[in-house]
Amino acid sequence: MSDTITGSSVRVRFAPSPTGKLHVGGARTAIYNWAFARANGGTFVLRIDDTDPTRSTEENTQVILRAMRWLGLDWDEGPDVGGDHGPYFQTECLQLYREAATRLVAEGKAYYCFCTPEKLAADRKAAQARKDPFQGYQRTCRHIDPAEAQARVDAGEPYTIRVKVPLDRGDVIVHDAVHGDVTFNARDLDDFIIFRSDGTPTYNFATVVDDARMGITHIIRGDDHLSNTPRQVIVYDALGAPTPVFAHISMILGSDGKKLSKRHGATSVEEYRDAGYLSDAFVNYLALLGWAPDGESTVIPRERISSEFSLDHVSRNPAIMDPKKLDFINGEYLHAMDDTTFVHDILLPQLAAAGIDDGTSHDEAWYLLAAQAFKPRCTLSADVLAQAAYLYTADNELAYDPKAVKKWLAKQGAHEALCAAGEALASLDDARWTPDAIERALDPLPERLGMGKGRVFQPVRVACVGGAASPGIGETLALLGRTGTLARIEYATSLAL
Ligand code: GLU
Repeated sequence: MSDTITGSSVRVRFAPSPTGKLHVGGARTAIYNWAFARANGGTFVLRIDDTDPTRSTEENTQVILRAMRWLGLDWDEGPDVGGDHGPYFQTECLQLYREAATRLVAEGKAYYCFCTPEKLAADRKAAQARKDPFQGYQRTCRHIDPAEAQARVDAGEPYTIRVKVPLDRGDVIVHDAVHGDVTFNARDLDDFIIFRSDGTPTYNFATVVDDARMGITHIIRGDDHLSNTPRQVIVYDALGAPTPVFAHISMILGSDGKKLSKRHGATSVEEYRDAGYLSDAFVNYLALLGWAPDGESTVIPRERISSEFSLDHVSRNPAIMDPKKLDFINGEYLHAMDDTTFVHDILLPQLAAAGIDDGTSHDEAWYLLAAQAFKPRCTLSADVLAQAAYLYTADNELAYDPKAVKKWLAKQGAHEALCAAGEALASLDDARWTPDAIERALDPLPERLGMGKGRVFQPVRVACVGGAASPGIGETLALLGRTGTLARIEYATSLAL
């Protein structure tokens, strides 16, 4: 990046329109802006582009702010935190846009246009009919004498304001940090509207006025905006403001190669949060959708993202959403959590939300043991509920998995194994009811009974858990407790051959 403004002068912004929830594409754009600011010791600005009054709502703004907070993307300037470059809501800037547009008119860089919609439609039709390669606005009002135009405005005639694209402008070359130099033919650009007749600015104008007054140095956004960029460059030129560095990042596609949409499942950040993904894992996953510090790492903690992020390593290829990779990464973060954090951030909130345990049913040691046992077996937070279900079921209401029953209980020898296990375990009193002691009590049985380990321990597991999978038998039974274990084993003997 040749004309980059580097060091702590870096200022980037994320500028969502509150017309809906924060989607994964927007979230990734936010992450890249945040990480770029952090990696360069710069400033991350959050701006709410709420100029579309029909689709922007206060509720959506709050949803977006909440999602940003959940993602842990702290902004240095913007809503709630303020800053020296406010306002940070576009609706509060309408007067600024008006002044900027009027100033351009006064400087001869923009002009009032009085063409009616009917006239514009007729001009377009005529240009089509004569196969004019230029089908844009025919610059009719560009030639009106400024004093006359001003008089018509003063007399109350409806007008728009159009920017004067310099006729000798030549190509507009966008220096894009991801796509390289992208050349647009300036002759294809008409004198586009910057200010509508209803007194509102167009997106291409408002965004540049704001980016310029906020001193934004790098614009990192989705490549659906690449086609707007030459127009924005024209506005920067007209305003006499330096053009920032652009970085247009690829779209996120579903696994079928189509633009990500509801059809592919969850699309909003909230949905992922509610599905139990961890913020750190989600940010890690999204950061890797189009960026990689090296070719290998999959688990990249946010500290690494925010210190190593660079636009040089952003890919221009479309990124494909891969739910399996997201799950994998989420599992890695869960597994890396220490047990105490797992108890308080995952296990207890999940149990409370399911309404089965308010955190007072057991002591801290028991919950820690549960964390130790279940954590390695969880990919998502909510998985812990399925793991713990056998502990929150009455002994006589345990549901047995028919396949597990068939495979392990309805087998010759199962009855004998259960009786032996029941006897060995009954010899342990409550005080010795620990994973180690349980394992030591059960260990000698396979040899004594002349059976394989599976044939002894699996019937015990099915008897106590209802299925064939659970953590180690010592932990599984220690959590269940002595009374429950013995009762379930005894009941299962009646099912076993
Ligand atoms: N409010 C615009 C959007 O959400 C911002 C685009 C931009 O970054 O310039 O698409």
